[in-house]
Amino acid sequence: MPPDAGRTARTGVEQRRFGPLQCEVGVIGQGTWRIDEGDRARAIAALRRGLDLGMNHIDTAEMYGAGASEELVGQAIAGRRDQVFLLSKVLPQNASLRGTKVACERSLTHLKTDRLDCYLLHWRGPHPLEETFAAFQALREEGKILSYGVSNFDTPDLEEAWSTAGGSDIVCNQVLYHLQERAIEHAVLPWCEQHGLAVTAYSPFGHGDFPATNTPAGRVLAGIAQAHQATNRQIALAFLTRQSSVFAIPKASSVEHAEENAAASGIRLSQAEVAQIDAAFPRGPRPRELPMI
Ligand code: NAP
Repeated sequence: MPPDAGRTARTGVEQRRFGPLQCEVGVIGQGTWRIDEGDRARAIAALRRGLDLGMNHIDTAEMYGAGASEELVGQAIAGRRDQVFLLSKVLPQNASLRGTKVACERSLTHLKTDRLDCYLLHWRGPHPLEETFAAFQALREEGKILSYGVSNFDTPDLEEAWSTAGGSDIVCNQVLYHLQERAIEHAVLPWCEQHGLAVTAYSPFGHGDFPATNTPAGRVLAGIAQAHQATNRQIALAFLTRQSSVFAIPKASSVEHAEENAAASGIRLSQAEVAQIDAAFPRGPRPRELPMI
């Protein structure tokens, strides 16, 4: 087997309930930040292959390429909208009552669709949460979004959201989570689980800084990967999604990468393997603020 061949996706990606929603969403999904910067046809083919394999959760944002990522996603899902759990995000500076509605309309136009499955506040910003949630509720009543959530929210932000009108309807928190950044495990992840929210792990491969195999921690990963006939990245995804509330959204711009990521979904790590990874990539102390990129 070539060193990076790994498991291939023979069956579809495992689907789970997304937080309190009734719908089923692939445990491994597809990120799209900077996907518009490379070969567009290749990126579209990757997203479409990902959909074939059950990576139905496609994550984009008005910020990505100032709408160019949303436009590319729109092309990729053309004719297949019903197969997709489509998520976009409003920029904090746009998240006023009126600004959120305008931003959502713009995203729908870019995506060439009439609805988002989920709409997130990208991170905390200048506008009161009450306004953003009021806009989300109005958009939901109009059928332009089917659900809403937040991103980069630490526990004080989540508490505040929960006690704000409309805030206890959030369905997810999308946060930075990868082997070398496990801060959410201290408090955010338990909080979300207690409140029935889905947790979406963004930058699950460290945003281009994936541990090299020639490092001690990389070698631990490689050993476990070998035992599963998998790749190091597949083991990383299996580790991150070991809790049932967690979904991961790696960004892949080739069919090969999409296939490799999808095939991580069936890997079950033993307790001993989880402990080995835990020791190789320690969680570290709880940081003062939730890290984000
Ligand atoms: P990432 O998914 O951690 O890493 C992406 C990198 O991994 C790319 O260079 C990609 O290369 C590579 N890659 C993917 N699959 C691979 C494979 N099987 N083998 C080898 N390399 C592989 O980084 P990310 O884009 O930062 O995070 C993922 C998504 O999370 C984003 O795209 C975005 O949708 C979301 N996000 C959200 C926030 C937020 O604030 N809410 C912040 C950051 C990211 P190729 O492109 O060549 O395939």
